Amino acid sequence: MPAGRRRCGVEGCAHPVHVRGWCTGHYNRWHTIGDVQADRPLGPYRGSRRCEIDGCDDKHKARGMCGPHYDRWYAGQADSEAPATGPNADSGGKSSVEVS
Ligand SMILES: [Zn+2]
Ligand SMILES: [Zn+2]
Repeated sequence: MPAGRRRCGVEGCAHPVHVRGWCTGHYNRWHTIGDVQADRPLGPYRGSRRCEIDGCDDKHKARGMCGPHYDRWYAGQADSEAPATGPNADSGGKSSVEVS
């Protein structure tokens, strides 16, 4: 048995341990209602959004997208919205250091 990879302490739950010996879902349940309710299956995460990109089922991060898709979108935004000139684009043209 490989060390360091523990499973959720709730019987029948195969999720990796997140905190307190439970997976994220069971810990959240305990945190929310004070009981892991081990006899009730977690099922799909309810109330947690999923990425809205077609064919992607990753966890929602922002703007309806998962982390990777959001990062890609954000990079595209930066490309299209950023002005072509930066703060140093018009610095006078003298870039060489003159030593007198
Ligand atoms: Zn669990
Ligand atoms: Zn996605």
